[in-house]
Amino acid sequence: MTAEQSYAQAPATDEVARQMEELMLQERMRNIGRKLLVLSGKGGVGKSTVAANLAVALARAGKKVGLLDVDVHGPSIPKLLGLEKRKVEIVPGKILPIKVDENFSVMSIGLLLDNLDDAVIWRGPRKYGVIRQFLKDVVWGRLDYMVVDSPPGTGDEPLSIAQLVGSHAAAIIVTTPQDLSISDVRRCVSFCKVLSLPIVGIVENMSGYVCPNCGQRSDIFKAGGGEAMADELGLPLLGRIPIDPQVVISGDAGAPFTAKAADFPAAQAFERVMQNILASDDRTDCGAKSEHENKETYNMKIAIPLAGGCLCMHFGHCEQFALVETDERNNIVSKTLLIPPAHEPGVLPAWLHEQGADVIIAAGMGMRAQQLFTQNNITVVVGAPARTPEQLVEEY
Ligand code: ADP
Repeated sequence: MTAEQSYAQAPATDEVARQMEELMLQERMRNIGRKLLVLSGKGGVGKSTVAANLAVALARAGKKVGLLDVDVHGPSIPKLLGLEKRKVEIVPGKILPIKVDENFSVMSIGLLLDNLDDAVIWRGPRKYGVIRQFLKDVVWGRLDYMVVDSPPGTGDEPLSIAQLVGSHAAAIIVTTPQDLSISDVRRCVSFCKVLSLPIVGIVENMSGYVCPNCGQRSDIFKAGGGEAMADELGLPLLGRIPIDPQVVISGDAGAPFTAKAADFPAAQAFERVMQNILASDDRTDCGAKSEHENKETYNMKIAIPLAGGCLCMHFGHCEQFALVETDERNNIVSKTLLIPPAHEPGVLPAWLHEQGADVIIAAGMGMRAQQLFTQNNITVVVGAPARTPEQLVEEY
């Protein structure tokens, strides 16, 4: 048996499976224009309330929005949106989000648990795996915004999320006006800096109380704390949302207060927060357009070096390259066979980039060559067996 034959019979390695998952995750994230990670230094400050209402408000403003609840400690989005009884459709490798309307889809870790209390017993690696799988498997399609309700604090879970969502992400920090919260915000800000995660700004929630009868505002905890903190940290204060019984009533009823034109104080304040976030898109990195935003559909091109119709073990010495194009649903739409230029370091990555390749599937490849492909925006999958392009793309 030749080396090539034995390779062909070998099962795909764990490493290949891991790389394929990584690519799938990247691909999902590439279809999302902006990822807004709603963070807070601690629980109970209104992070989920802000995330849910922000997502609803953006969808009402005509944006295509996905709301992802990965608060493994206590996913509350299903309750806030009245979705607890909705069944989630799961097929292998795919979780279909709940489509609330044309512009708005929701997925929550809480919808996958029989018992919401299960969430708190997950340990670190399990949580990381769940978060990763969630981001990889939820099929959103193309979105303008993904609003993420992250676990509170600055621990491993928000860290995993910030790292997994990739580029075009930015944080919104939710806090309350007390002094103690200010140190939480500082921690959140340092956390974002370490991760190079741009911060859209701070939302001060439960900020004062507006009398429903006379409209007079009373600063119950403290006045001006939010502005002073935002100034000190050099961040925009996106808005101050007052304590408003309507927020609790609408949250308990599973009907977000921004869903209908509401004139109570929290809803008005929230509208300003949303306008400030939309206006900030041009200022933060998260304002960058998704790679596919202006395209009707996104097709991916996968390059495969061939010898005798199957993957060539030495990509630099292959007879041909197959360039397989897949559509948004991962169906193969075309296959083109190309004769590559003579092999010299750096030539193939640049040439495949010109051909529009997004991914190269190879058997083995040295680190230097992998770097050259990456520099040309081509993702490298190595360790693949000697199969036909169709089989490899199918597995990919
Ligand atoms: P977190 O996600 O930070 O744990 P939640 O969004 O679950 O916080 O909010 C905690 C509680 O505070 C909920 O009962 C919610 O209805 C209430 N709440 C949040 N914001 C306000 C507000 N502006 N006015 C009154 N109650 C609020």
